Amino acid sequence: MTFTNLTRANEIGANSYLLDFGTDGRIVLDAGMHPRGEGSAGLPQLERLKFDSVDTILVSHAHHDHTGALPLLMRDHPSARVFMSEATYYLADPLLHNSVQVMLKQKAEKGIAEFPLFTHRELDQLVKVWQACGLNRLWSPHGYPDPENEPLTFTFHDAGHILGSVGTALHHRGRTIFYTGDVNFTDQTLLRGADFPREGIDVLITETTRGAQPRPEGFSRDNVVERLAIALEETFAKGGAVLMPVFAMGKTQELLAQLHFFQKARRLPETPIYIGGLGRSFSEIYDRLAGRVRRKSPKLSLLEDIMPQVMDGRRARDFSPKRGHIYLISSGMMTENTLSNVFAQEFLAHEQHSIFFVGYCDPSSPAGLLRATKPGESVTLNAAYGPQPVRCRVEYFDFTAHAQREDLLAYILEVQPRVCVLVHGDPAALEWFQQELAVKAPGMQVVIPPPGEAIEL
Ligand SMILES: [Zn+2]
Ligand SMILES: [Zn+2]
Repeated sequence: MTFTNLTRANEIGANSYLLDFGTDGRIVLDAGMHPRGEGSAGLPQLERLKFDSVDTILVSHAHHDHTGALPLLMRDHPSARVFMSEATYYLADPLLHNSVQVMLKQKAEKGIAEFPLFTHRELDQLVKVWQACGLNRLWSPHGYPDPENEPLTFTFHDAGHILGSVGTALHHRGRTIFYTGDVNFTDQTLLRGADFPREGIDVLITETTRGAQPRPEGFSRDNVVERLAIALEETFAKGGAVLMPVFAMGKTQELLAQLHFFQKARRLPETPIYIGGLGRSFSEIYDRLAGRVRRKSPKLSLLEDIMPQVMDGRRARDFSPKRGHIYLISSGMMTENTLSNVFAQEFLAHEQHSIFFVGYCDPSSPAGLLRATKPGESVTLNAAYGPQPVRCRVEYFDFTAHAQREDLLAYILEVQPRVCVLVHGDPAALEWFQQELAVKAPGMQVVIPPPGEAIEL
């Protein structure tokens, strides 16, 4: 079997990997788009794959860095079958339609000629090919369950990262290759930690997102939850409002549930919580599938029990933050001209307000810049507004949906694969895992796959 890293650099980037089993099949794991990529520079190296040479595409979860290029991969490989979990099937459709909207907007604003890379109409056709597969069950790459005597089969396992996220086990002639996708081993507010296989894995392909961040001393999710509750109380006591820039998928739903539990425990007044239109669409899917997935509080309906208000573009035009209100608004990285970026202008200069971050952001994104700005200094979040002094409270709460590096390392050491392939991490993160494994598992072959090169495993 050969493995080719189809990303353009060793980074979190635009995830896509080719597994070539010769005549037994050619499989592509994920087809993402780089969060910062503009135009085709944000795509994986799909041009390395000969036209219609891929048999199977397996999608780990609906986040854009894993699905954003899926329509392009499918266009180039019209015979390929495409598999994902049921929840990913429902989430990826509105996500990709939103991606067309974003590309059309960027085309108009920045004059990116190649945008949109695909259209709504094309997407409607491609989605018909997708097939949803149940978890913990053996599947044939020809699309039927419980196959017998097939040289190559696969199984999805809950990855605990966002709704529908899976790790993928590929079984090939007595050997097992396992791809973690994005994984979280501990429970979140709604999702339960990963339910991964722990033995019989020969080759492990693992994400390494948090490899450069040690787990802080005494870190626990309960502590983070408590700190957030106190910070919200303090902001409201000053008469302020809170902006939380979040991803519309995953983080919006987790935080919505968390804020609801604060209200039920009377830690917070029953103040209005606002979410974005896309956040609402994804929340609806979380609700629809609540009873069908491995999740906590399966009876909690985000939209009916919490009744978040929806902030659309029109209502946003004359926005001003109201005392005691919470705005769970995307984008999480405060990309220019997204609602969270525009709203931030109304928070920055006012001491009583707070901007609370709850997830990953690229250090060079506007959110990354703001997080690195000291109180009283200025920051430019949007060229149109220029530099602004930061007088509001800015704080980070680690509601991560990715495994702590210590938990991931423990998993690798428990599994003891013959080969461990490190992906989905920046260079410092990859290096930490490589060094730890060299000491703790000297017999293990550890690979940081160079982009674009086929390696024999
Ligand atoms: Zn993800
Ligand atoms: Zn990812």
